[in-house]
Formats: sequence, structure tokens, C-alpha cells
Amino acid sequence: MDANSAEISLQYGENLKLNNLSVDTLLANYDPCPNDPYGSTSMPIYQTATFRQAGAADFGEYDYTRSGNPTRTALQDQVATLENSIGAKSFAFSTGMAAIAAVVRLVKTGEEIIVNDDSYGGTYRLMSQIATRQGISITYLNLSGHQGAETLTKAISPATRLVMIESPTNPMQRICHIATLANACRHSGHSIGTLLSVDNTMMSPILSRPLELGADIVIHSATKFMSGHSDTMAGVVTVKNTGDDGRTLAESLYFYQNAEGATLAPFDCWLVLRGLKTMALRVRAQQFNAQVLAEWLKKCPVIKKVIYAGLDDFFDKDIHFSQSSGAGSVVCFTTDNLSLSEHIVSTVKLFKITVSFGSVSSLISLPGNMSHASIPPEVRSVREFPVDLIRLCVGIEDPYDLIRDLENSIALFQVKSL
Ligand SMILES: *Cc1c(COP(=O)(O)O)cnc(C)c1O
Repeated sequence: MDANSAEISLQYGENLKLNNLSVDTLLANYDPCPNDPYGSTSMPIYQTATFRQAGAADFGEYDYTRSGNPTRTALQDQVATLENSIGAKSFAFSTGMAAIAAVVRLVKTGEEIIVNDDSYGGTYRLMSQIATRQGISITYLNLSGHQGAETLTKAISPATRLVMIESPTNPMQRICHIATLANACRHSGHSIGTLLSVDNTMMSPILSRPLELGADIVIHSATKFMSGHSDTMAGVVTVKNTGDDGRTLAESLYFYQNAEGATLAPFDCWLVLRGLKTMALRVRAQQFNAQVLAEWLKKCPVIKKVIYAGLDDFFDKDIHFSQSSGAGSVVCFTTDNLSLSEHIVSTVKLFKITVSFGSVSSLISLPGNMSHASIPPEVRSVREFPVDLIRLCVGIEDPYDLIRDLENSIALFQVKSL
């Protein structure tokens, strides 16, 4: 490593190399349409529902946009490359939830899904109110930490078709050990075969690539880091070339994508393609800012607990950094004082109160009554979800402006409560 690259890796962490080029270079230089007759450097938006056939029985490469569209192909091909797994194939859906729903289609009536009990709220709703109605049994388990694989091995039954996890979970940032959970699935010894699906939305392929770690399926809500500007919704499923009842997983996913039709529209594909060009840059800048903020929060006397994998006292830090190259940009903290937490969330000026994350601008929320509202109260209490927990999704602003914003808000509360 020469001096320059050593300096860059100090600042940014190790970069993934694909074909000897850094992922940053590949994303910025991706040529989505090498055969474009006019040499277009941005992928054209094929805003068409139908494609003319050359003859009655000659369908050509594309016939109908639900089944396939060149703008979508460009996006899917690029996302598949990012997983750094030979034979990986990606499928783009209208939202992250549509992507997750397509994965759930791999499970038949009478079979079981084991879901990490700290999953995204929308995943809960899909499991508890839709999958169960289709006769799929759902088991929620805590699969995080060093005991996760043992817990999973004991729980897998002859009916377990799918295991769905996230790491880190959102917002509590529990860590699942992807490689050992993948191993537990692979060695379940049951004939239906147990697939491991990882929702990698929190990390993005820049920081973690679950297929490399042994997972069969990786899901991204592209609404977050891939598009990166809170201006579009999308979801992507990427699979390895493993089997599903005689079909490959890719053939099955393509079948459900086309048959149910929740495909990503050409313009939205184009927006995600544009977002991807700067994804590496954004993810690293956001992560750098998150680290600065987490360290500041840690020293702030009114803040009780800071949860961020980049801090020395983070639980399961060893597992996290064995499978991810960075801590990401979501920082959570508690104050032990609900009115202070509510005050901070409603008085900061630079952090917008919204759900979601992964955008260039910083966001703040009290997840207990926002994105996780779809989780039934009885499950929420099992998951020890502190009501005063604040979630910051850090953007690309100057981190010292963000710190001053938090500082001002806290000072205002102290004045008010004198
Ligand atoms: C946002 C999110 C989803 C759902 O994605 P949408 O694009 O909102 O449908 C799924 N999983 C995780 C971890 C998410 O953060």
C-alpha cells in the first residue's frame, strides 16, 4: 500500500476491491449502457410499457416492462456486482417491503420462518399479519450475539425454510453473526433446506456483504443508502445461485417479481442508479460524522447511554467488525428523561423529524412512537425498547454544526427546567 492509499484508508477504512478497482471507482465509473448508439453516459430512462416485437413469434430481449426493462436491468446488474459474489443476481422492487414480500414467497404454507426478534417494524407486520394468514408459521427469536447460532440450531425444525435477520438491528443495533448463522442453516440437516436472508439496509454493500459471509439472500431497502436523497422508494433482493425446488433462487425471484408485478419503474430505477454513483462517498462521510457525534454524545453529561458500533464499549463489537468494515451512520442514545428526549427531537434545527435513514440530510426520531409503531406493544416490551431512545441518522452536513445544534437544544432545556 503506498502512502496515499494508506492515508485514505486511515480516514475511510478499507475499501472493497472488485476486479482490482475500489468500489468507489466502480460506482463513479459504471458504464450502464456500453452499447448505446449515441454514447450516452447516463442510463437512458426507457419510459415505455411495451417493446415492439420483430415478428409474431420473435419476442426479442424485452417485451413488457413488468417482465423486463433496460433501465431496470442496468440497476439490477450494478447492484449484483456490489455483492462481490460470483453468479449473484439482483431484482429491483417498488419498495423495500415489496422486496421482503417477494422473499417470503419462497416459503410455502405449512413451512416456518424464523425471524430475528429485533427486526424492522414493517417486517414484523408482514410476518404477523400476512405470512401467518398464508399458513406460514413465524417464530421470533433473539439470534444476536455469540449465542445466536446455538439458539438457531436448536430452533430449526424440519419445516424451517427461511431465517430472516438484520445486523445491526435498527434502532437497538444488536449484532447477528452472519457467518455462524449461515452455517447453522446450511447444516440444519433437514431436507427442505433452510435459507438465510439478511436485510442489509443499515450497512449497504459498502460496509457489509452478507453473500460473501455465507447468506443465501440479501435484501436492501434502496430507499435508504442506495438512492440516498429521500426522494424515491425502492427495494432490491440479491441472491446467490442456490436452488429452490429445481429452480435456482434467481429463477424463483424473477418468477415472483414478474408474476406479482411489484417491479421498480424505469424512472425510479434511474434515480437509484444516480444515487449509486455517490453511495460510497456518502456512506463514508455519514459514517465519519456519526463517529464524531457519537464521541461527543458520550462526553455529554445529560446523555445516559450511547449505542454505536464505532464506540469502544459497544457490545459485540468483535462480531460486528468481523463482518463489516464500518459502524454505519445510525447513532442512538438515551437520556433517562422522556421530556428531555422529546425536547431534543422537537427543538433541533438541522435534524429533521422523519422516519427512514440513509439520506444526505440528518434525521432524528423517537423510534418508540414512529417507525416501530407497527410492532405490537407486547413484543415491544420483550425487546426492552426504551421510550426515551433517540435515533440519529447522520447526514453529510458539517458534523460540528450538528453538534452545536444538539448543544443548543440541550442548553435550552436546562434553562427551561431551572
Ligand atoms: C426501510 C426499511 C425496510 C423497508 O423498506 P421500504 O423501502 O420502506 O419499503 C426494510 N428493512 C429495513 C431494515 C429498513 O430500514
